[in-house]
Amino acid sequence: MADQAELTRPQASATTLRTINPATGEPGKSYDAHNLDDGLGAASAARAAFLDWRRTSFDDRSAVIRKAAELLRARKDEFARLMTEEMGKTITDGRAEVEKCAFHCDWFADHAEEYLRREPADIGGGEAFITFNPIGVILAVMPWNFPFWQVFRAAAPALMAGNAMLLKHASNVPGCALAIEDVLHQAGVPKDLFRTLLLPSSDVEALIKDPNVAAVTLTGSVPAGRSVATAAGSVLKKCVLELGGSDAYLILEDAEIEAAAKVAATARMVNGGQSCIAGKRFIVVRSIAEQFERALADAMGNFAMGDPAKEETKLGPMVSVKARDEIHRQVQESVLKGAKLLLGGEVPDTPGAWYPATVLSNVRPGQPAHDEEVFGPVAAIIAADDEADAIRIANDSEFGLGSGVLTSDLDRGRRIAADELEAGMSFVNENVRSDPRTPFGGVKHSGFGRECSAYGIREFVNIKTVHVKAEPHVGTVSTE
Ligand code: NAP
Repeated sequence: MADQAELTRPQASATTLRTINPATGEPGKSYDAHNLDDGLGAASAARAAFLDWRRTSFDDRSAVIRKAAELLRARKDEFARLMTEEMGKTITDGRAEVEKCAFHCDWFADHAEEYLRREPADIGGGEAFITFNPIGVILAVMPWNFPFWQVFRAAAPALMAGNAMLLKHASNVPGCALAIEDVLHQAGVPKDLFRTLLLPSSDVEALIKDPNVAAVTLTGSVPAGRSVATAAGSVLKKCVLELGGSDAYLILEDAEIEAAAKVAATARMVNGGQSCIAGKRFIVVRSIAEQFERALADAMGNFAMGDPAKEETKLGPMVSVKARDEIHRQVQESVLKGAKLLLGGEVPDTPGAWYPATVLSNVRPGQPAHDEEVFGPVAAIIAADDEADAIRIANDSEFGLGSGVLTSDLDRGRRIAADELEAGMSFVNENVRSDPRTPFGGVKHSGFGRECSAYGIREFVNIKTVHVKAEPHVGTVSTE
């Protein structure tokens, strides 16, 4: 048996990364991987580049990040195709994702200075203020499901704040990872300030522990979050974790059923169901459960599988056959344990990672559809006695990322969203979305820290207090 040191020692890096087209199962392009020495060298160079970048003005950084937005828009079709080839995203979703990245870059180019402006502090006489200074090199460990958005969501504010970034992207999207680096470099981000590292996840711990790395942000699964938090904790470095979710939507008895079902289906089917903030559990008050089940099965039935490169396709393949098989296991086991299959649930007999839109009713504790995150197009319907029971079920989850309430009573919706649901985001009568203008993140095992808005950009800065006296002065001695 390997001892602990053996298990935690960085493994030899793979020399080549090869992509697989999820729609066909055919191999795609190969990419030369980096090794850990490359990664540590990049960290040292990024630290040196940071020391210059942190002295640049907000205007200079804004010009660079605005240029990145311009390049993203100009190369939107190329990048959407790349996502389709590497992880199966539909071409229309890919274009929308690139547009969103551009909007996000523009937003932080316009607002970073305001978010990080020096704040005066009233200390009852004398001068005091608060500064928001960059902290250095941020390691970004990112997932494949929104291969452009997840990276820009972290990178635009980090760079605008004056930090440097190293990107360790998911191993199945190396083309996207390199394209992002290319955009930023073309836009004018100094080469060493942002680097893509094609490294395996086994090298992440060594990078976190490298003295040139100041902090780490990870978007991904709970196990990956736990590893990153453990490594960061061992060297006392800041981390932000954006992890999984099992978003609950409450469908209350006063909801407009057809419209609620459309919102629910849209929430469930975002990115073929492969989204942390996809609606996963639909908790419906029993008196309207039957009508809602029919309406949701109809709405989900509109998402037919098709070639992700075609404009009309609403549901492409899953990311990999392995991921598809896991979704199918969760569905089958749920059915064995009492769930009722209302739609889908069969693996088509074709090459590629296909799984159809699926609806399960009678979902209960003990079934994977109830207890686990199902990362695919599977809607789980759970019946509740009343509002209080629905809230209890929604909160009875290890996760707390997004959540929704469908009701025609807005005061009721506001109250439940604001005060009752244990989640980082609660939306009334619409599907949960991320937005650079509002904070994004979770509670419980969905992670900690926030991205987007002033809250996001302030995660990776030193919030520093400065007191100034004109003459040397002995102040009151405090207890700390
Ligand atoms: P994943 O397996 O955790 O991978 C995410 C990233 O972490 C990849 O770069 C991966 O590298 C790396 N990684 C994996 N294990 C690691 C470890 N032990 N130590 C350090 N790094 C590690 O997640 P995924 O399957 O790509 O994405 C799906 C999950 O992400 C879902 O749970 C989803 O809900 C969550 N997610 C959350 C958000 C959010 O904002 N909260 C957004 C999107 C997705 P390799 O690819 O090389 O393994």
